[in-house]
Amino acid sequence: MFAETTAAITAAKEAYALVKVLKDAREQSVIDKATGELHEKITELQMLNAELASLYHAEKQVTMQLTEENAQIKMFALQSSQYEIHTMESGSTVYRLKAVPDPDMKTHYLCANCYQKREISILQPTGKVIADSASNYCKQSLCPACGTTFLMHRLPKKEKYIPQPISRKGGW
Ligand SMILES: [Zn+2]
Repeated sequence: MFAETTAAITAAKEAYALVKVLKDAREQSVIDKATGELHEKITELQMLNAELASLYHAEKQVTMQLTEENAQIKMFALQSSQYEIHTMESGSTVYRLKAVPDPDMKTHYLCANCYQKREISILQPTGKVIADSASNYCKQSLCPACGTTFLMHRLPKKEKYIPQPISRKGGW
């Protein structure tokens, strides 16, 4: 944009010099030559003006985008400061609240995948129970943003999951 601005200033100065020539000229040939050159300078200025306007618009877009990104980074820094990395007993790595405000309140967990991309995404239970590598049954959660599934809490042995046959509605 600097080169275009300099070119526009130079063209404007040259046009102004041509106007001065026209003002002081007495001979028709000088007037004709200066008029022709002035027309060229005006066309050049119009083109530079359009170029500058488009460059200004592009710069403005970039500034707006950077402002938005900056706001998102600040928002993430503020939100993420409440969380810490945590490994579930199933081995899944997630983020959880550093402190639960109310002891009766259940904590929630964040997707580690989205956290790395500066996104706060709360994991939601899928209702499924899956066996982990140690053959323990664990509740499964899903990240609604990226679709990653996580093995969460292990079920106590007595609650061990036994697949139930699907009961027929209405019975036999
Ligand atoms: Zn995610």
